[in-house]
Amino acid sequence: MKPLQELVRPNIWALKPYSCARDEFKGVKADVFIDANENPYPNGVNRYPDPLQEQLKQAISPMKGVPVDNIFLGNGSDEAIDLAFRVFCRPGKDNVVAIDPTYGMYEVCADVNDVEYRKVSLTANYDLDPDALLAACDDNTKLIFICSPNNPTGNAFQREKIEKVITGFQGVVVVDEAYSDFSPLHPFRLDLQKYPNLIVLATFSKAWAAAGIRLGMAYASTEIIGLYNKVKYPYNVNVLTQRKAMEILGNATLLQRHISMILEERETLLNALGFLPICKKVYPTDANFILIKVTDADSIYKYLVQKGVIVRNRTRVHLCGDCLRVTVGTKDENTKLLAALRQYV
Ligand SMILES: *Cc1c(COP(=O)(O)O)cnc(C)c1O
Repeated sequence: MKPLQELVRPNIWALKPYSCARDEFKGVKADVFIDANENPYPNGVNRYPDPLQEQLKQAISPMKGVPVDNIFLGNGSDEAIDLAFRVFCRPGKDNVVAIDPTYGMYEVCADVNDVEYRKVSLTANYDLDPDALLAACDDNTKLIFICSPNNPTGNAFQREKIEKVITGFQGVVVVDEAYSDFSPLHPFRLDLQKYPNLIVLATFSKAWAAAGIRLGMAYASTEIIGLYNKVKYPYNVNVLTQRKAMEILGNATLLQRHISMILEERETLLNALGFLPICKKVYPTDANFILIKVTDADSIYKYLVQKGVIVRNRTRVHLCGDCLRVTVGTKDENTKLLAALRQYV
């Protein structure tokens, strides 16, 4: 890895962050708060939120095995993705490299930030080619994006292949583990000490059943977390989100139950889909969705819409011709999907 200072945009390296009222007194015990121009009458949300979400990070840390100082919390992983561009990539100069196909937000954030986005195709069976990724990099490549388990293909990549990219790259590798709760593979968030050039993304939107509160994580070295904290909006995670997340974290049993129900339903669905004549291929999955190749994705998609069943049509995505992406739903939802597909002629 290059020295961090060489990788970070010079204006960000030099940035003096906004100092909010609550940063200044830190550590002192007080009971009169007349520093932030808030309305003093309590209604549950009259006070600004904790800018660094200490309590929430204390709760996430033991559960995810990541020290508090290595955690950034944001408005969905979307914020963590966008911040990677804003911290590392000089608009109009730097570039990033990503696997293709993958999650669409990396490219959108690259475009918004005026950063060149270089796509490196996965192999025909959706595997990662570390040498091809590294070969696409030049001296201005700041980030490599690897999503594993990958969206929309569903598969997780072999650990050794991802490691080869991390150790072979001079910049920062972003490994998106949004779906790692559904995969038996050892997550990269537990290897932060080994890899100073690693950012791991995670989210409350999938296994945690909280897409609506917009809460995402980036796990990285304390230096990278410090840069993220400097650039983020001061109060980027609102009071209601922090409160709801604490409640959700208090119910780990429910999380485990959801994960096992989804995995069980995934098996049932994988099996049943394989028997459908319209289904030409069911791809292996380590996530809470299944990619299937069908006889005619556009017409089957439209047919399903008419039946009130909405799946994701991925037919125009690289390497995904005639593919639909199906999220594992409840038993009832999956039954309705299968019933509709069985009636398709
Ligand atoms: C769904 C998803 C996310 C989650 O994004 P949020 O902004 O946290 O809701 C992140 N990465 C991938 C690859 C996803 O599919």
